[in-house]
Amino acid sequence: MNLPQYYAVVPAAGVGKRMQADRPKQYLSLQGEVVLARTLKRLLQANIFTAIVVAISPEDPYWTELDISTHSQILTAAGGKERADSVLSALKTLENQVDNNDWILVHDAARPCITANDIHKLIATVSDDAIGGILALPSHDTLKQVEGGAIQQTLDRRKVWRALTPQMFRFGVLKQALEQTQGNPAITDEASAIELIGLTARIVEGRPDNLKITQPDDLRLAQFYLEQQ
Ligand code: C5P
Repeated sequence: MNLPQYYAVVPAAGVGKRMQADRPKQYLSLQGEVVLARTLKRLLQANIFTAIVVAISPEDPYWTELDISTHSQILTAAGGKERADSVLSALKTLENQVDNNDWILVHDAARPCITANDIHKLIATVSDDAIGGILALPSHDTLKQVEGGAIQQTLDRRKVWRALTPQMFRFGVLKQALEQTQGNPAITDEASAIELIGLTARIVEGRPDNLKITQPDDLRLAQFYLEQQ
């Protein structure tokens, strides 16, 4: 049997409403370079991917302006309504060239501080697994479950982790999970689709500086992290 190949999928078709900016957050400038270009360069630096598929909205006027859009290792797919639709669309463009056992690492376009080390740590820990696993962070704060502005209960923080990306799954398993759970609003990452079809994903502790740019202040924080790295 051939050794499994590694592919990256980058959902980049979101509109980023919470940023209150004139363009989607993946196209904002971070230390003189567009967030999405930085993210893709970090993935290329890991030097492990056979190809990287970026899901781009059909109405996106910014992507083709980026020099990196013509990189020979980077392919594009049409983004979908939700993040999971964008990921599924990217998987479909790979269908004819991958094996069900090949690995897909899904990484948010808006996480430009990912390090090659974290990618290799995830791969080293999970690559003997039949399903896959994700980078995540243990919670240091006490966590409350809240409804209507009132605390319902305190969660056991030893058991609660914050899911990051990359999230790494076998191609066949991930495609099946996303197809079976399509349209379900509870699917906010790949691991939740895996869980819903009754499979178990591994957890690998990632770096706390792998933040997702969501709010305006996050750009300044990302800049600080990049300088520190
Ligand atoms: O909005 P959120 O921060 O959860 O988005 C996470 C990632 O998913 C972003 O990189 C965003 O561009 C992407 N996304 C997508 N297609 C959508 C919605 C979000 O590719 N329909």
